[in-house]
Amino acid sequence: MAARIIDGKAVAAQLRAGLAARVAAAGYAPGLVVVRVGEDPASGVYVRNKDRAAKEAGFASRTIHLPEATTQAQLLAQIAALNADDAVDGILVQLPLPDHIDAQAAINAVAPEKDVDGFHPINAGRLASGQPGLVPCTPRGVMHLLAGTELRGARAVVLGRSQIVGRPMAQLLLGADCTVTIAHSRTRDLAAECARADILVAAVGRAEMVRADWVKPGATIIDVGINRLADGRLVGDVAFDEVAAVAGAIAPVPGGVGPMTIACLLENTLDAAMARRG
Ligand code: NAP
Repeated sequence: MAARIIDGKAVAAQLRAGLAARVAAAGYAPGLVVVRVGEDPASGVYVRNKDRAAKEAGFASRTIHLPEATTQAQLLAQIAALNADDAVDGILVQLPLPDHIDAQAAINAVAPEKDVDGFHPINAGRLASGQPGLVPCTPRGVMHLLAGTELRGARAVVLGRSQIVGRPMAQLLLGADCTVTIAHSRTRDLAAECARADILVAAVGRAEMVRADWVKPGATIIDVGINRLADGRLVGDVAFDEVAAVAGAIAPVPGGVGPMTIACLLENTLDAAMARRG
């Protein structure tokens, strides 16, 4: 039986429409500022997409594009100015930063209440200790895609333990009463770990690594990976065709998690605005 396709484009469009309605009702435009340093080409595309989606939903969005030669001190001063600016609800420092800048120092400099990427250690700590805070956008998006899936008591395996996807993903699933395993590059028998999962979230960055025989029949598969093949095709961490024949539901690449990330950035920005402005 073919798996149900989890349509991230449709879920994200619905989420963005709901956010636009809430912004219209709020009586103010939540302020989002993306800080970009240097010329990383992929960042240019991401930043433009974020800006467009934010404006379409009624947010006051702008990008501050600093030159490659910006020093760490200059970047931290820029972030401090945004922290102090009352019109700014959300600050996102676009990664990667040039090598001469310590990315963690930049992340740590963002006021936690404006940290709409959810990467600040205060927000990571809040998530880990079950307190409300700003949650990283991609895992938050995955939770939206899992709405309607029975999570309580389900066995969830998260493949990958990065600060931006794997770890916060595992925390969110734990908070939703899943029994969570985090697998990574030192895990002994990945296939066997994955084959026990009712819910498998793959966030590894290895093209089509998860095969059909790693998947429990009927499982829900969320593919976070984005990998560009030599022939130009974009694929996830999951071998889509063969896994879709075994799984119960699957979020494809592209069109699954990807569209959710920007929608959840807007959701975080509105949350931050409402928390700050009351
Ligand atoms: P990352 O920081 O490189 O982390 C990758 C994780 O996968 C690490 O924990 C690593 O284990 C583990 N790993 C690597 N190779 C492995 C292997 N052969 N077997 C088992 N585990 C392995 O990557 P990330 O930032 O979390 O991103 C993961 C993927 O998601 C990438 O493809 C990225 O492009 C994509 N992504 C998509 C979105 C979106 O919006 N859709 C957002 C963010 C990221 P160790 O910790 O042991 O090294």
